[in-house]
Amino acid sequence: MKLKNYMEIVVADALRQVLANMPHVCQCERCRLDMMALALNRLPPKYTVTHSGEVFTKLRMWDAGNQAKILTEVTRAAMQVGEKPSHASPGKQPEKS
Ligand SMILES: [Zn+2]
Repeated sequence: MKLKNYMEIVVADALRQVLANMPHVCQCERCRLDMMALALNRLPPKYTVTHSGEVFTKLRMWDAGNQAKILTEVTRAAMQVGEKPSHASPGKQPEKS
């Protein structure tokens, strides 16, 4: 049994869709993780214990209802990181907490 923030899975999925329509935005691992972090900080976590199919059926319904809000936040995060990638200035990474 594992404790999992289901929002992470949904955001990763949404990010793939969003980035497919934003080819001009840097899509390196660092930028994608920054986008994930930004979007996840603005969305409520959705912790669940993963052990049965029933849980995922419920979560898929939850996902459908929240899809628009999630896509909005992911798109905003992708645009924000796309404009100012964390690795723009080589050397020191800005401190983030
Ligand atoms: Zn990048």
